[in-house]
Amino acid sequence: MRILFISDLHLYSERPDLIRALLVFLREKAPQADQLYILGDLFEAWIGDDFITPDLQPVVSALKELTDNGTELFFQHGNRDFLVGERFSELTGAQILPDSHLLDLPSGKALLMHGDQLCTDDVEYQQLRIMLRNPAWQKDVLTKSVEERLMMAQQLRESSKASNTEKTQEIMDVNQDTVSTVINEAGVATLIHGHTHRPAIHTLDGDKRRIVLGDWDSQGWYFEVTDQAEELINFEIN
Ligand code: MN
Repeated sequence: MRILFISDLHLYSERPDLIRALLVFLREKAPQADQLYILGDLFEAWIGDDFITPDLQPVVSALKELTDNGTELFFQHGNRDFLVGERFSELTGAQILPDSHLLDLPSGKALLMHGDQLCTDDVEYQQLRIMLRNPAWQKDVLTKSVEERLMMAQQLRESSKASNTEKTQEIMDVNQDTVSTVINEAGVATLIHGHTHRPAIHTLDGDKRRIVLGDWDSQGWYFEVTDQAEELINFEIN
C-alpha cells in the first residue's frame, strides 16, 4: 500500500517549470501509488471547468492517464481552485472530497483538509471564505462570461495580495486552538493539510501530529505513506 499527498502547486502558465515537475511526478512517482490526494491549490486560479488554458491541458491529460492506469485520485478544494467541479472530475477521474475528509492510515485515523479553514486569526479572510464557498454565489459566478470571471479572479488575487502584506506571519498561520478542536472533534491522531507553505511534521499533545505539506516552488514536496513508513519528502525543481 502506498498513498501520496500533495498540495499548493499553484500551477499557471507563468510557471512552466512547475507544470513540468508535476508531469514528471505523475509519470514517474504517482503510478506506484494506490492513491494520490491533492489537498487543494493545485491551480493558482480556476474560474470554472469550462476554461482550461492550453498550458494546463497536459496536466488534465496526465491525471486522466494516472486514474486510467489504476491509481485512485482525490481532490480537495483550496482557496484558489474552489471552483473545480464535476466536469474536471469527469475529465481526470478525480473524486472530489469534502473540505474535511477522514482517512484510515496504517498509523491511525487521519483528517485531511486544505488548511485555510484553520487560519482563524485571519478574520477578514474567513469572512471572504464564507462568500467564496457559498454554492449560490458560485453558481451565479459560473453563469458569467470567461472575461468577467478572469477579471474577478484578478481582482481577488490583487486584493488578497494587498491585504496579506499588512498581516503578520502569525495571523496567516494556523490557529493552534482551532487545530486542537478539529483534531479532537474528528477523533484522529493525525491532521494533514497544506495552504500555509510551512512544510513540517509537528507533534501535538504528545501523541498527535500535524503534517503540513509544502508548496511547490524551487522545491517540490510530497508526503508518502506506506505500510512500513511515513515520510515528508522534498526534491529540486529546475
Ligand atoms: Mn491555499
